[in-house]
Amino acid sequence: MMDVEVIENSNKCARCNYCRVCPIYTVEGWESASPRGKLYTIKSLVNGEIDVDARVVKELFKCTTCGSCEVICQVEIPLINLWENFRAHLNSKGYILPVHKKLREKTFREWNPYGESREKRADWFKDLKNLTSTNSDLLYFAGCTASYRTLSIARDTVELFNKTGLDFNYAGVDEYCCGSPFLRTGQRDLAQKLFLKNYKKWKEMGIRRIVTSCAGCYRTIAKDYPKIAEKLDYDFDFEVLHTVQILDEIVDEIDFEDVDVKATYHDPCHLGRHMGVYEEPRRVIEKMGIELIEMEKNRENAFCCGAGGGVKSQFKELALAIGELRVKEALNTNADYLISCCPFCKLHISQSLNNFDKNINVLDIVEVVIRTLNK
Ligand code: SF4
Ligand code: SF4
Repeated sequence: MMDVEVIENSNKCARCNYCRVCPIYTVEGWESASPRGKLYTIKSLVNGEIDVDARVVKELFKCTTCGSCEVICQVEIPLINLWENFRAHLNSKGYILPVHKKLREKTFREWNPYGESREKRADWFKDLKNLTSTNSDLLYFAGCTASYRTLSIARDTVELFNKTGLDFNYAGVDEYCCGSPFLRTGQRDLAQKLFLKNYKKWKEMGIRRIVTSCAGCYRTIAKDYPKIAEKLDYDFDFEVLHTVQILDEIVDEIDFEDVDVKATYHDPCHLGRHMGVYEEPRRVIEKMGIELIEMEKNRENAFCCGAGGGVKSQFKELALAIGELRVKEALNTNADYLISCCPFCKLHISQSLNNFDKNINVLDIVEVVIRTLNK
């Protein structure tokens, strides 16, 4: 049975088409790819006017869950939840896209969607010389992308914590995927399993606060975990932060070199629209003495990088085409750095830059801080 809320909210659409800001629609240009078109498809499915088939399912999964449609919706439909609930409904009926199924299988095997060895998850940390963790109640949750793909972000975060005297704890190979890719693609059973594995470990370690590098992990642990905990009748008394919020608190105590650098900032969807963190990164950039030049689309109107919601894994070309539009905007600013606060955004934007002659240095905010420290 489909969620009543999905049906009611689909019926609210005023068909104004403001939600054409959607990155999927921007690239594909088909009405059925727009949020309005997707709602119409859902309505037609509910009314029995069309049947669920592989083509319809594929179209409905073309959504990065970026939230641009929700921000602009004229009748305030909670669209992010609607897309996720509908995907969960499709999953419960056995509809799962082939690559998403593979991610699921890999995660059941190695506890990360990249399918990398679980035993190697903490290798980036073992390689660090003279940098340590303690039994602090503050946990650094590196996440899958920083642990296996953009290792410098995890390393620089630990270096930053050590240099600023911030004690932290780290779960090593007992850190498991947060479950974000599975919540966004409707695979709630697996997300719940991952919640339980992380939760039990954190309790065992005496953790009270959790800090993440990844915008997706941050949204998941801060916003989704309390709901999963409530459903399972567990208490969830952790304070959850993103690294940039810690940076924002301590930036005045950090001694930076004088720099002559211009930067633009990409708001990760899961940090910005999903969690409302817009000003902290901008304050940190300015306090580093870096000139910030905004892209045309910024803050709640920022254009998605194209990677989220399972789009990068299942629809590679589409994800790259969206990423290239974001890169173009960044290049138009003539900035030296394109800064973000998310390992997954960094990874995808760096790959989207490959087809351009012009260059821009794509960095996470923590990497910029480490480069700019007065040595
Ligand atoms: S969440 Fe983003 S990608 Fe998905 S329909 Fe809305 S605007 Fe499009
Ligand atoms: S902005 Fe909202 S009301 Fe307008 S077409 Fe899109 S979903 Fe429908």
